[in-house]
Amino acid sequence: MSICPKNKSSKARRDSRRANWKMAPMNFVRCPKCNALMLSHRMCKNCGTYNKKEILSMD
Ligand SMILES: [Zn+2]
Repeated sequence: MSICPKNKSSKARRDSRRANWKMAPMNFVRCPKCNALMLSHRMCKNCGTYNKKEILSMD
């Protein structure tokens, strides 16, 4: 059994709920190793490190 809405939401109610859906801007930070711009909480695409550890070896 899963939850099931008892009444249909009106278009106004549905659309006003979705009016608050906004894209958050990408959070760029500088890599501590190579100083390149990278996304936070993601591996650096330039040198392949995450949290000061090498995940991918870049030649
Ligand atoms: Zn890097």
